[in-house]
Amino acid sequence: MSSTDYDLFTIGAGSGGVRASRISASLGARVAVAEERYLGGTCVNVGCVPKKLLVYASSFQEEFEDAAGFGWTVGDRTADWATLIANKDREIERLNGIYARLLDEAGVERFEGRARIVDPHTVRVGDRTVTAENILVATGSWPHLPEIPGIEHAITSNEAFYLESLPERVLVVGGGYIAVEFAGIFHGLGSRVTQLYRGPLFLRGFDDDVREALAEEIRKTGIDLRFGANPASIERATDGSLVATLEDGSRCEADTILYATGRRPLTADLGLEDAKVALAPSGAIVVDEYSRTSVENIWAIGDVTDRLNLTPVAIHEGMCLAATLFGGRPTAPVHEDVASAVFSQPPLATVGLTEAAARERYGEIDVYRTGFRELKHTLSGRDQRTLMKLVVDRATDRVVGAHMVGPHAAEIIQGLAIAVKCGATKAQFDATIGIHPSSAEEFVTMREKVAD
Ligand code: NDP
Repeated sequence: MSSTDYDLFTIGAGSGGVRASRISASLGARVAVAEERYLGGTCVNVGCVPKKLLVYASSFQEEFEDAAGFGWTVGDRTADWATLIANKDREIERLNGIYARLLDEAGVERFEGRARIVDPHTVRVGDRTVTAENILVATGSWPHLPEIPGIEHAITSNEAFYLESLPERVLVVGGGYIAVEFAGIFHGLGSRVTQLYRGPLFLRGFDDDVREALAEEIRKTGIDLRFGANPASIERATDGSLVATLEDGSRCEADTILYATGRRPLTADLGLEDAKVALAPSGAIVVDEYSRTSVENIWAIGDVTDRLNLTPVAIHEGMCLAATLFGGRPTAPVHEDVASAVFSQPPLATVGLTEAAARERYGEIDVYRTGFRELKHTLSGRDQRTLMKLVVDRATDRVVGAHMVGPHAAEIIQGLAIAVKCGATKAQFDATIGIHPSSAEEFVTMREKVAD
């Protein structure tokens, strides 16, 4: 009989923490999870799920416009923000309930409140103190804003999901996933949007061709996307407008200023220092390949470890940890060939290496690229182009990267990710017969290499 209350005590009931807890309990462990905010964490409450619902909402505008070329007459249309947010909130509440039920049915004890590690085997939540063989920190991350004068006037994605009304003019600052996605959401719903990114080209880390192609497509939609531009200060004018003064001295007025300038691991006030859990300079918890921290029985997964900050990766890390701790199979999470998408409009999706990264790793590579106008737009008249790109290791003929900007990119790349993960060769892509007419078939019909 163990002398501790639990085999595993998880701090944070987000995507990673919930999965690790549930699977551990199903393997026979005595598990508890503490959550101070909302069940399901960022993804369910103020991230992936509500974001995608807002992306759907904002994409109707283009659909209505495109319908005309197919003979449809679409009458006056307005988007009601309050209805959208209320419906979204109802769905999130339903999901919160599902998370609670999943934990309860798995036999995971739930604690509501902030947990603090007292020592490597003891956790305090409110006025309760419990002991555990293992502690898992899965507290996620939180938006980070630069300290410029007037930054208190800006909101983050957390607040964007709960605005009372749709702002007429939105200024989005940042050039990562969140900035690009919200610029598209507000634009599609009818706001006038300006997006500022401090560097020469946004979405650093993605393949250069797709970054450029997406910038061009976004500008065509009417978003004022500016590079090499960054606010130095923000003020509220007497009429209530917000005025950002940029580093070059120019000014930009808006009703809402949304900062999406990255997220930081949530590690403050958890007792990590007292327990001697090592942190990186970024504040992230340092873990080994099995998600073990510098303390033998304390583990960490998800954004708080700042490895690859994506929900499905946190879930994967949680599954691996459960297998390591209670499945008798030490399992290290794999962070290679993880597909991801930016739900911009049009969306961007990618798996594997960028052209630059592949060149660095393999030296000699072949690149296949195609750009075209979707069949749909021959009648809709929309000036939108799709880009697809394959990166191939010349020595082995393996496809090591697949990238796309265009409608349904996430759905298409998800399928290709299996092929890339399996090590498929370009010859095997070529031997695959396409579905006609589709955009996706272009991925198996690219024959012309881009000249070296
Ligand atoms: P990112 O790290 O992706 O992007 C942050 C952006 O802000 C970068 O363009 C960065 O510029 C810029 N920036 C950073 N600091 C400053 C500053 N002081 N002043 C001006 N600009 C600054 O963060 P996000 O907030 O967009 O997203 C956080 C994480 O959430 C992502 O890493 C991603 O993993 C995850 N996510 C995934 C989504 C998906 O899968 N669809 C959706 C949303 C989030 P620079 O490049 O020059 O450093």
